[in-house]
Amino acid sequence: MDPQTIKRRGVMLVLSSPSGTGKSTISRNLLESNKNLELSVSVTTRARRGSEIDGRHYHFVSEREFNRLREDDALLEWAEVHGNYYGTPREAVDIAMGEGRDVLFDIDYQGGQQLMEKARFDVVSIFLLPPSMQELQSRLVRRAEDAPDVIQKRLNNAIEEIPHWKEYDYVVINNDLDRAFSEVQSILTAERLRKERSSPALFEYEKFLLSGAES
Ligand code: ADP
Ligand code: 5GP
Repeated sequence: MDPQTIKRRGVMLVLSSPSGTGKSTISRNLLESNKNLELSVSVTTRARRGSEIDGRHYHFVSEREFNRLREDDALLEWAEVHGNYYGTPREAVDIAMGEGRDVLFDIDYQGGQQLMEKARFDVVSIFLLPPSMQELQSRLVRRAEDAPDVIQKRLNNAIEEIPHWKEYDYVVINNDLDRAFSEVQSILTAERLRKERSSPALFEYEKFLLSGAES
């Protein structure tokens, strides 16, 4: 029996943080470094930013379309964030998890709460914090994707969002990017190895190992 073939359930990796902390940057690095990890592409009613590609960063939809998805129970979770609606399409997650792949969710704390209620066993949640409020503001300004009033709204919302770190499994402070990325990567690596995610296959592996001891 090849140890590489030991099957396990996928990890649902939830990353949340105040806007501008670095979720998208760390997500991008994770997706580049982990072949078995795929991004859950959310639907949103927010306007597309210049750098964003429809279907890759988000599925951009009208409010009417968003409501239809909600009514059809096609969203695993949804929330209103910074005055727009965001939601996680259920089908893509079901398919990936069914195939034993890991899924990354870049969602806010309201979505994190819903996923933790629905799939506590599969979810591993990480809350990212900025090194300071000044640095958070500088990152939002440097990103240069949002208008000044939108940046102000996101900073105000950060004050409501930050206390939700307590609901998460792990907290990572994104001061130095390389360090924060390596901490998030370590969490994912360790969580993949939890025995509960592979137990049926591990029982088989135990049998295989011990049958070798008899002969
Ligand atoms: P979020 O997805 O949480 O809103 P982003 O990933 O878009 O945040 O990051 C916001 C800005 O901060 C981007 O311009 C990004 O390049 C920058 N950034 C991310 N992490 C760091 C870091 N550790 N140090 C300095 N700048 C960072
Ligand atoms: P942004 O507009 O900067 O892309 O995202 C704003 C906030 O919405 C971020 O905190 C992001 O994580 C969150 N978000 C993105 N997609 C979803 C989603 O599908 N569900 C929920 N609950 N939040 C989301």
